[in-house]
Amino acid sequence: MIAREEIANVLKGYNKKEIRIATICSHTALQIFHGARQEGIKTIGICLKDHKKIYDAFPYGRPDEYILVDSYSELPEDELIKKNAIAIPHGSFVEYYGKKNIESTRLPMFGNRMSLTWEGSRDKLYEWMKDSGLKVPKVFTPETIDRPCIVKTSGAKGGHGYMIVSSPEEFKKKIKTTDYHIQEYISGVRVYPHFFFSPLSKTGYTMKRGSLEMMSIDRRIESTIHESYRSTIAGIELKPSFTVMGNEGLVIRESLIKKVLEAGEGVIESSYRLFGGLTGPFCVEMICTDELEFYTFEISARIVAGTNLYPTGSPYTSYSYNEPTSTGRRIAIEIKNAAKADRLGEVIY
Ligand code: AMP
Repeated sequence: MIAREEIANVLKGYNKKEIRIATICSHTALQIFHGARQEGIKTIGICLKDHKKIYDAFPYGRPDEYILVDSYSELPEDELIKKNAIAIPHGSFVEYYGKKNIESTRLPMFGNRMSLTWEGSRDKLYEWMKDSGLKVPKVFTPETIDRPCIVKTSGAKGGHGYMIVSSPEEFKKKIKTTDYHIQEYISGVRVYPHFFFSPLSKTGYTMKRGSLEMMSIDRRIESTIHESYRSTIAGIELKPSFTVMGNEGLVIRESLIKKVLEAGEGVIESSYRLFGGLTGPFCVEMICTDELEFYTFEISARIVAGTNLYPTGSPYTSYSYNEPTSTGRRIAIEIKNAAKADRLGEVIY
């Protein structure tokens, strides 16, 4: 992992008045560029040649400038550094450039890149979730399965290929890979709250240090489980699958906000104990049972695609800001505030 001081050195060479926000044209890029534009920060889109047309179709969401590439195999690090760029690592950015590139690049990235390493390893993720004081689904080995479990095979993307099994025999019959994670299946409603943690801000939900903002909430729409009742009514026997195909908005009972904010707070406090702190956007992926207990099955330590529902703000940001504020815009605000206060090193690594 590249040292924090090296990134601080790169940042020292930046012209603070010419800072740009850069990311791959995918995932949450339209929202990120749109938010930066609202804050007057110029943007750079790293874009596949044949995808430029898609981004040009959205004049307020397109980047100000493109770096056109044939593939995402190499990060145009030097060119971006020359342009005073701060990269926003969204889901596709992390996926395409991979752990190795992200850990070693000299390109300054918004947030703490250590958090991406922690979210990317099942063992570390569980350690983090438990240290955060969150309720987590029980983990099983194939031999100990004694209830409905979800088997997450490694390499499965966006929930694709996950299976439900209820016994060691069923596991043996259905699972042919050797790399898997078996988790108790939690019945309830999935809730994906999107947070933003700022070590600089003094407004919002105050904590030991900085403050936490609840930006919005979504629920993922997954095929085929999402509308499985239709298949059932049609008399079709369904093999449930969990392939994410979109997102829909959600607000929760106001009396549940306390539990959700406390979950976010736990994640941040633990991140400081474990790896020097998560800053910026993140999501705690939970399932709320009929006892109104929240089980967390994952943490996303970066902006999540569900925030795309709210380019002009959400019901929750309406109570925090006087203006329509997306997570993309919140990122731009943080970069501006940090640059002004000469504290970029605290929100960029
Ligand atoms: P993940 O890849 O962990 O984000 O999970 C993808 C999808 O699988 C989630 O959005 C849920 O619909 C489902 N899922 C994951 N873990 C569990 C669990 N422990 N219990 C029930 N559903 C789960």
